[in-house]
Amino acid sequence: MNYVLPAPEVAAVPVAGGGLFPVHRIYCVGRNYAEHAQEMGFTGREPPFFFMKPADAVVPVADGQTGAIDYPSLTANLHHEIELVVAIGIGGRNIKAADAARHIWGYAVGLDMTRRDLQGEMKKQGRPWCIGKAFDQSAPIGPIVPYAKTGELLAGAITLSVNGSVKQKGDLKELIWSVNETIEQLSAAWELKPGDLIFSGTPAGVAAVVRGDVMEGSVAGLPLLRVAVR
Ligand code: MN
Repeated sequence: MNYVLPAPEVAAVPVAGGGLFPVHRIYCVGRNYAEHAQEMGFTGREPPFFFMKPADAVVPVADGQTGAIDYPSLTANLHHEIELVVAIGIGGRNIKAADAARHIWGYAVGLDMTRRDLQGEMKKQGRPWCIGKAFDQSAPIGPIVPYAKTGELLAGAITLSVNGSVKQKGDLKELIWSVNETIEQLSAAWELKPGDLIFSGTPAGVAAVVRGDVMEGSVAGLPLLRVAVR
């Protein structure tokens, strides 16, 4: 059977050292660092919750390059959220945290760009966050580094600067729900598939960017992610 329209391209992210990682789905964890939860008005260890972005929201940025995103429509408050991204290589349902690491193909540095004003409005009205979170170009991401090269990333600095000044600063060990626990919870709700990406949450310090700003995100052990807003 032939497609009646040209089939969309497979969204993909370059792998450090060569090759392309095809993106199946993008899962994101909300409020997964205590200080960020506080700045968003929440305290305590609530169960993890998830939202999604479309696979083609990725904006892959090659190692050493400066990527670019267009300032999105309908917002006057575009926020950066720097995150460790986990790339799933082996899918599964009901994966136990103790067994989760073997499902990880690699890691990358990603930005969960957020139209905060629209997200806030949707929250207030009890409506879905899609318009605030799942817009075009909302997921800039650096090269994926294979797990074989990084080992398990359990600790290490995660930072974001804008135009050279540090805005977000945290450590992976401060994750409220660890990557392995997140995989357990996610795979209880959805069958994880090879190609899934998990944005694991952002540390405190989220703030607005404007056209002309350059964001530099880093996670210890991974290539820097550099993205300009145009
Ligand atoms: Mn986020």
